[in-house]
Amino acid sequence: MKLRIPGPTECPDEVLKALSKQAINHRSPEFRKLIKGITEKLKQVFFTKDDVLLFTSSGTGGLEAAITNFLSPGDCVLSTSSGAFGDRFADIAEAFGARVIRLTKPPGQAIRMSELNFAFSSFKDIKAVLLTHNETSTGVTNSIGQLAYSASLRDKLIIVDAVSSLSVLPLFIDNWKLDVVVTASQKGWMAPPGISMMSVSEKAWEAHMQAKMPRFYFDISKAKQHLEKGETPWTPALSTLFGLEVSLELILKEGIFHVFKRHMEVGEYFRKGLKKLNLEILPSYEDASNSITAIKAPEFLDGITLKKILRENYGIEVGGGHGKLAGKIIRVGHMGLVQKSDMDEVLDVLKDILK
Ligand SMILES: *Cc1c(COP(=O)(O)O)cnc(C)c1O
Repeated sequence: MKLRIPGPTECPDEVLKALSKQAINHRSPEFRKLIKGITEKLKQVFFTKDDVLLFTSSGTGGLEAAITNFLSPGDCVLSTSSGAFGDRFADIAEAFGARVIRLTKPPGQAIRMSELNFAFSSFKDIKAVLLTHNETSTGVTNSIGQLAYSASLRDKLIIVDAVSSLSVLPLFIDNWKLDVVVTASQKGWMAPPGISMMSVSEKAWEAHMQAKMPRFYFDISKAKQHLEKGETPWTPALSTLFGLEVSLELILKEGIFHVFKRHMEVGEYFRKGLKKLNLEILPSYEDASNSITAIKAPEFLDGITLKKILRENYGIEVGGGHGKLAGKIIRVGHMGLVQKSDMDEVLDVLKDILK
């Protein structure tokens, strides 16, 4: 089976090999070396000098940590959403008692800086803004640099879901003044699920000191104290860390800018190929993601059937549509371990099916 869902993604052989190692003591010099190495490499890919903390969880755990560590019940939060993951981020904030103002775009549309400006001028007590860099449910990439600029001019806390974009699409955390950024091991990082990662700016630490939402497992004060000793507060997903250590080496060896370029070329190549097959994508070409493509199901074949044919007749696993998009789109992941030839494989099969 070929995994072309937008996460978990396939791991390189070197990573798979690292996963088969025996566990180690997570309070030992060996582990200290492992976590120090991983954290230093992560900072290079995050383009940050801020703290980068690790949690044992999928991406959603990291998103929860990004809410509960920096906010208090009753705080006013502006959520921006281009789809299911943006909605989820807002739901988490609401679950913990934030007052959430929702700026929601129809499926396939990105958030515009002018809309953010308008929201900030309409609601004066907004403390933090939630941004989704790459909306995996609709294949839309938001212009985070512009959105963050609008927010930082007004001194808002900028909290970013970069789960399906960090290590794939350019994201410059320090330059763009992003305060809290979350990602997860099973997307562009070419490692298995199990670890979420979060950067925390100086300003975010100040907010943390005042923040009163309940938290325990994901408390960043505990995570930072332990990291200083080369540990995690709780038993970490060791195998995933073994894999991540190797995948980070591969990413840095290729060169992070080369990784960005490869994803840009693969994304463009795939969209061109789809156009030749007369298949439409959900977003405009301007907003289309280079880590995942949402393809509209053709009129004569619904998305659920198309996904089933891809899986059962051709051994290619793709994603379907969330919520109202169920049956209307299929989603093809191209993040992490991916080359143009992988997309040729999908394009050839789609051509065959459409015939
Ligand atoms: C995958 C993903 C998540 C997290 O999902 P998990 O299943 O909890 O890892 C969050 N946001 C985005 C944009 C994602 O792509």
